[in-house]
Amino acid sequence: MADNSSNNNTQLSFRDTLNLPHTDFPIRSNSRVDDPAMIERWVKEDLFHVSYTHNEGKPKYIYHDGPPYANGNIHIGHVYNKTLKDIVTKSQRMQGKHVPVLPGWDCHGLPIEIKVTQENAALQGVELKKACRAYAQKWVDIQKEEFKNLGILMDWDHYYSTMDYAYEAAVIQAFGHFASNGYINRSNKTIPWCFSCKTVLALAEIEYKDRKDPSVYVLFPLVGDSVQAMFPGLESQKISFVVWTTTPWTLPLNRAVLLKPQTPYVILNVQGQYLIVGEALADKLCAMLGVEKTVVETFVSDDLVACLARAHHPFNGGDVPILLDDSVLTEDGTACVHNAPGAGPIDYEIGVKNGLEIYSPIADDGTYTQEIEPKELIGMPVTEGQWWVLKKLKEEGLLLHKATITHSYPHCWRCHNGLIFRATKQWFFDLQAHALKDRALQEIETVESYPEKSINRLKTMVRSRFEWCLSRQRSWGVPIPALLCAQCDEAYCSQELAEIISDHVAKHGIEWWDTVPVEQLIDHDTICKRCKSKTFVKEKDIVDVWLESGLSHYAVLDRHAELGVPADLYLEGSDQHRAWFQSSLLTSVALYNKAPYRALFTHGFVVDEKGHKMSKSLGNVIAPQELLERFGIDGVRMWVASLDNDGEAVLSETLLKNVQEVFRKIRNTLRFLLSNLYDFDIYTNAVPVEGLQALDLHALQELSEVNEAVIDCYNAYNITGVFHKLSEYCASNLSALYLDIIKDRLYVEKADGHARRSAQTVCWYIVDTLTRLIAPILSCTAEQISDLYQKNKKKSIHLQNFVHLKDMFTVLAERDAPYHAYLGPSGVTHHRIGIKTTLNAIHTLTFAGFVHQDWEIGFELRNALLKAIEEARENGLVKHPREVRMSIYINPQVATYNAIKAFFDRIESSNQTIESFLKEFLLVSQCVVLPAKSDLQESSVFEGLYVKIEHARGEKCPRCWQWSEAVAEYGVCDRCYPIVKELKGN
Ligand SMILES: [Zn+2]
Ligand SMILES: [Zn+2]
Ligand SMILES: [Zn+2]
Repeated sequence: MADNSSNNNTQLSFRDTLNLPHTDFPIRSNSRVDDPAMIERWVKEDLFHVSYTHNEGKPKYIYHDGPPYANGNIHIGHVYNKTLKDIVTKSQRMQGKHVPVLPGWDCHGLPIEIKVTQENAALQGVELKKACRAYAQKWVDIQKEEFKNLGILMDWDHYYSTMDYAYEAAVIQAFGHFASNGYINRSNKTIPWCFSCKTVLALAEIEYKDRKDPSVYVLFPLVGDSVQAMFPGLESQKISFVVWTTTPWTLPLNRAVLLKPQTPYVILNVQGQYLIVGEALADKLCAMLGVEKTVVETFVSDDLVACLARAHHPFNGGDVPILLDDSVLTEDGTACVHNAPGAGPIDYEIGVKNGLEIYSPIADDGTYTQEIEPKELIGMPVTEGQWWVLKKLKEEGLLLHKATITHSYPHCWRCHNGLIFRATKQWFFDLQAHALKDRALQEIETVESYPEKSINRLKTMVRSRFEWCLSRQRSWGVPIPALLCAQCDEAYCSQELAEIISDHVAKHGIEWWDTVPVEQLIDHDTICKRCKSKTFVKEKDIVDVWLESGLSHYAVLDRHAELGVPADLYLEGSDQHRAWFQSSLLTSVALYNKAPYRALFTHGFVVDEKGHKMSKSLGNVIAPQELLERFGIDGVRMWVASLDNDGEAVLSETLLKNVQEVFRKIRNTLRFLLSNLYDFDIYTNAVPVEGLQALDLHALQELSEVNEAVIDCYNAYNITGVFHKLSEYCASNLSALYLDIIKDRLYVEKADGHARRSAQTVCWYIVDTLTRLIAPILSCTAEQISDLYQKNKKKSIHLQNFVHLKDMFTVLAERDAPYHAYLGPSGVTHHRIGIKTTLNAIHTLTFAGFVHQDWEIGFELRNALLKAIEEARENGLVKHPREVRMSIYINPQVATYNAIKAFFDRIESSNQTIESFLKEFLLVSQCVVLPAKSDLQESSVFEGLYVKIEHARGEKCPRCWQWSEAVAEYGVCDRCYPIVKELKGN
C-alpha cells in the first residue's frame, strides 16, 4: 500500500492524504503488567460478585462447582478444570442468563488431618479439629487468590466449603433423613487392622515389606449326596479340595471354597487320596509333593458347583459352599481358594456379594473372641493361633504339605508390625433400600453427557457398586450422629437426634460433638432396644468425605434461592464418575428421587507430550505460575480452549507454541480492525444494511454464520470447536481474504465517503461480534478491546451479551439519531435512510439463503481469474496483480450462467459496476467485461469464462499505486484526484 511520501514529484505528501491505520491497542500483549492490573480493576468494579447477581430474574443457568481439596497450591490440573468451568459459565451468562457461580472447597478428611498431626502429634478432639480448620482455611484463602489471578469469574467472597458450620449441619441432617428412611445400616466390614496400635489403617498408612510365612496346602473334603453320582468310580469320602494359604490362623474363619468359573479341574490319585486341583496347576502340585501325576477325573468347575456339592469345614464340624469367582487365579496355588470374609478385603467383597457371614471373632488386640470355633482358641493371639491351627490340621490328617514363603505383606506405618484384617462394625448406605441403585440407574438415563459416551462410566460404576461404607475412624470430619449402647454396642440413630445435633453444629461447628455430654442428647429413660441398658456413648466415627461433598446439592444448591436442584451442569475430570458424580447422584435420588444434574461434562488429565501424567518423580511438573509468566492469563486460557475434552490434556512446548500463534493471529486481526476504526462512530457513521457494498454485505453474512456456529459450540460445550472456528475465521475469512481486499478502500478512499464507511461499518460489527465471542476464553484481551471500540462503555464485556445479526441492526434502532446520512455510491446523491427502512431490510435479506449461494459462484470465478493472473506473473507479463489489466467474457450458453448472472445482479443492485467490483475483488488495476469472446482464452478451470491478462495501461498512481490511463493534476489517478484536491484546498 501507498507509503510513498518520498516518491512524489510535487510538494504535497500523499502519505498525509491516506487514511493510515492507528490504534492504542499495543502490537504485543504485555501480560506481566496488564494482567495484574486487569484483575485489580475487576476487583474494584466488584465484577466477581456482580457476575453472581447479573441478569437476576432472567432464565437461570445453574452451574455447580465441584469443590477442590484445600491442602496445597493449585496445580495445572486445577487450572485446566477451573478455566473450563469459567469458559462455560461466561458463555452462558453472555446469552442473557442469570448464572450465579458459587465456588466451593472440600475441607475435611484424612490428608489434612495427617498433615496437622504430623506437625503436632499431641493434638486431639476439639484442638485437633480447630487446627485442621485453620489449616484448611489457609489453603482456601491461598487457592482463592490463585484462581482469581487466572481471571476466573466466580463469587470469591461468598464461596461454600464443606467445613462451613451450616454445611456440616446439613450433612448431619441428611444423615438423619437417610437413617429414618431406612437407607442406613450398621454391620461388619473387614478392614486392615494393627493389633499393636489397636487401630484401623487407611490405605495410605499401609507399608508393604517382605515377611516369612508358612505356606500350607490343606485338604477340604468334598461332601454332598450328588458327589458319588458325579464321580461314580471314586470313593466320595476320599475326594478333597487342595487349598493353599499363607495365613493358617484364618482357616477357622473359613466360609467358602472358591473355584474359577469355566475352568478345567482334575482329580489326582495321590497315594489313594483323591485331590482336586486346577488342571493347569496339577504338574506343579505333583512336583512339589514328589509324586507321579495320575489323573483319574477331569471336570469343569461349573459342573461341580451345579451338583450342589459342599466342602467340609476343617474346624467347626459343618460344611461350606463351593462358589465360582473370577478372582481365582490359575497361575499360582491350586485354583481352589479358601475364603474367610472376616479376614481379608477381597474375601469380604466376595462374601458380601454371595451373602456369606462376615465372621470375624477377633478382638482389637488380635486375640480370638468368645465367638470362635473351636473354643480352644478363645483368648489366644492369632500369631499363636497360626501354629495351633497347623498342629490341629496335622492331627486330623488334613495338612497335605507345609513349607515357608517370603512374600510382600502389609505392615503398619507406625509400629511396623504386620497387619491383620478383621471385621468391625461400620456404617453403610444401603444401596438396595427402596431399590436405590436401580432408581439411580434410571435417573442416569435422563442426564446428558459431554462427551456423549462418558456417561457409560457412571453407569458401570453405579451398577458394579456393591456397598458404600460411610464411616471412618478419624477426627477431622462430620460425626456420624448416633449413640452406641455402652453394654452391647447396639446403635441408636434417629431423625430427632440428628436434628438436635445439626442445630448445635450449625452454631458451633463439629467441635461441639466432642464436648457435648451424652445426657444432653437423649432423655434419661431411653433404653437400648437390644439389652435394655440405659448407658450410651457417642459414636466416634466420622462420615466418608464423599458423603459430605456428595451432599453439596443439599447443603448448597438447595439452600440458596438463586440456585436449586437439579443443576444444569456438573463439570469435572473423568475420575469423578466413580467419586463425586456418583455420591451426588445416590444421595440426590435418596433425597428427592432425581439426579442432581441435567448434564455432566468431563475432561481428561494433564499429561506431557509423551503422554505421561505430571508427577514430581518424573520431573515433568509445570507450575501454573510458570505458565502465567510465560503466556499470560489469556495465553493459558487459550491453551485450555484448544484441548479436546474427550482425550488427555496435553501440555507440551509444541502445542503451547501453536496455541500462542493462534492467539496472536486473533489478536492481530482485532488490532487491524481497531486501527481502521479510529474515525468511525457506529451511531453516526454506519452505513445501513441495504446500502452496504456487496462484498461488505457478504462479510457481514459470513460473520453472522460464524457467530451462530461459535455460540452453538459454546452451548454444546464444544470449547475446542470454538477455538478452531475462531482461529479459522480470523486466518482464512478475514486476514487472507476480506481484510486483504478492503485495505485499499480503507486507506485510499475518501475518509467519510460511502465506500470506506461501508467497509468500516462491517469492520465495526466484526470487532464487536468477535470481541464478545472471544470474551469467555480471552477474557483480558476482550475487556481491553471493548474499552477501545465501545465509546462510553458502562459495563465489563463479561456482563454484556453475545450479539446476533438481528441485534446488530437494533443497535442502530436504539439510537436517538433516527436518520443516517451517507454518501451514495455515485458520491453525489445523498440518501436518507430511516430506522424503519433499516429494520425492514433485515427482514427482507435472507442472509443464510440465496445470498450465500450467489457467492459460491463468485468465489469460483475469483479462483479461476487468480489462476490466470498467476500464470501471467509466471510468464513475466506482470510482477504484481496491481499491474494487471483484465478482460473477461462469459458465454451465456454455459450451465452456470444463471448463477453468474444472479451474482452479478447482486453486485449491481448494491450500486457497483461489475468492473469496479472485480477490480477490488482481485486487487487488479483495470478490468473490462466484454460483450464478445474476441481474442480471449477460455479458462482451463471455469467453463465458459474467457480471460485476457495484459499489463495495465497508463501510469502508476503515486498515491494509491494503481495503474490508470486518466492522469490528473498532481500526477494522481482520477480516483485519487478529488480527495487530494479537497485536502489540498483545506
Ligand atoms: Zn501399628
Ligand atoms: Zn445394649
Ligand atoms: Zn490513485
